Amino acid sequence: MKLASRMSLLGTETAFEVLARAKALEAQGRSIVFLGIGEPDFDTPEHIINAAKDALDSGYTHYTPSPGLAEVRACIAADMSVRQGYEISANNVVITPGAKPIMFFTILALCEGGDEVIYPNPGFPIYESMIRFSGATPVPMPLREELDYNPDPAEIEKLFSSKTKLVIVNSPNNPCGSVMPESTLELIARLAAKNGAVVLSDEIYKDFYYEGQHTSITKFPGMTGNSVILDGLSKSYAMTGWRVGYGVFPDELVEPVTRLVTNSVSCTPAFGQMATMVALTAPQDSVTSMVAEFKLRRDILVEGLNKLPGISCPTPLGAFYAFPSIKGTGLTSQEFEQRLLNEAGVSLISGTSFGEYGQGYVRISFANSQENIREALRRMDSFLAGL
Ligand code: PMP
Repeated sequence: MKLASRMSLLGTETAFEVLARAKALEAQGRSIVFLGIGEPDFDTPEHIINAAKDALDSGYTHYTPSPGLAEVRACIAADMSVRQGYEISANNVVITPGAKPIMFFTILALCEGGDEVIYPNPGFPIYESMIRFSGATPVPMPLREELDYNPDPAEIEKLFSSKTKLVIVNSPNNPCGSVMPESTLELIARLAAKNGAVVLSDEIYKDFYYEGQHTSITKFPGMTGNSVILDGLSKSYAMTGWRVGYGVFPDELVEPVTRLVTNSVSCTPAFGQMATMVALTAPQDSVTSMVAEFKLRRDILVEGLNKLPGISCPTPLGAFYAFPSIKGTGLTSQEFEQRLLNEAGVSLISGTSFGEYGQGYVRISFANSQENIREALRRMDSFLAGL
């Protein structure tokens, strides 16, 4: 069978492949510590599960309008208005099955051959995959270890051109756990506005801060009519399997993105949308306690990593990933990923899964128990001693 040539442009997210390999080893009886996949290991809070059950019992089992139920869009708009600090209308909110379609649809709606898209590298792999799929040219914005995995302000201006259509910002960042300084956000906002580029601000980790508070790029002049905010429930409420995401779009993008929803998935499951209202309006204790636990895990992991030979790890300020340098081990990132899984039973992800600037690094998710993180550190220690 001959596939359409566009399929050769589409990449993937290797975290799912690494997970499958690790699960296969586990099925053969091997003990594996999973530090690969990026999802909270907590259960969805009970009050949100009950809201979905109630919604199912009340008949929320049908199609909804493509951009989402009006009352849910209004609820998201109210929540986002408080978080972002300016008035967001329900008409600008589109709900999708998970947050990934927000980047997929934004890029499909905006970008094509001849356009350039600036994106963080290392970064979430779907950015580069989707940019290429759209026919646009990906322009990596390197995140530098020496700048705590932030772009070098001196380099940013050179990335922009008259062809720049879109700039993707992800703070807190996957895979590095970095948080962009306000001055860098401001610089990107200014350059995007100057060059007439749209900003896609991926804020899916906005609740995961270990120091400081979230700043959205939308707070800078010219950004509110010019940016797409990507958000959703997957991380904050441990709801990755529910598939509820949403975006706040400039007026011109609402109709095209809604049309892409209609053409692909029709709408987001009705009961998940109803549960969203409870997730957003109920007390946020579950989020606070989850983030507090993640901070303890982060500290155990980073302290342990920095004691290992050949490894050094800056302290992540947000998200739930550490991105240590493994350059001192003499292994490539891919060798490190494969050998650590096969020889020591620890599953993590090669930095190159997040782009070429990830060579020399690996991503470790600390969405696992303190006990398992300690066990992984012990296993890494013996593995490195045997190199
Ligand atoms: N953006 C980033 C940076 C992510 O890490 C993820 C999930 N790993 C997403 C978006 C997508 O989230 P969802 O599971 O809701 O599609």
